[in-house]
Amino acid sequence: MSKIQVTRDRSWAPCCFILCKVKDDGSINPRSGDAKDSMLVQLDYDFPGLAQAFGWQVPCTCGASDGSVDCEACGVTADDMISSARAYLYQCVEDGKQVEDPGYFDSGE
Ligand SMILES: [Zn+2]
Repeated sequence: MSKIQVTRDRSWAPCCFILCKVKDDGSINPRSGDAKDSMLVQLDYDFPGLAQAFGWQVPCTCGASDGSVDCEACGVTADDMISSARAYLYQCVEDGKQVEDPGYFDSGE
């Protein structure tokens, strides 16, 4: 069971989060260029899903939205949720938070 961590690198990938697989020694290797070590998460619409892997709760409580589309019933927009997810991910970067990989790197193995 492997863990994942998000990081950022302003000089290399300024607008993205870099999702990294945590190595056995607890370190990450965001710049290796190897898809087994890290992947870029650049699309706004991918942020809610990634944030959820790190413990963020979708503000839509009725279940109609996964965070990437508006939910009229809850009165939350995709923009709101993406902003919230992005802020959460920034905090995870700050904290160096590590969580179990829900399948970003382990799928298909
Ligand atoms: Zn809803």
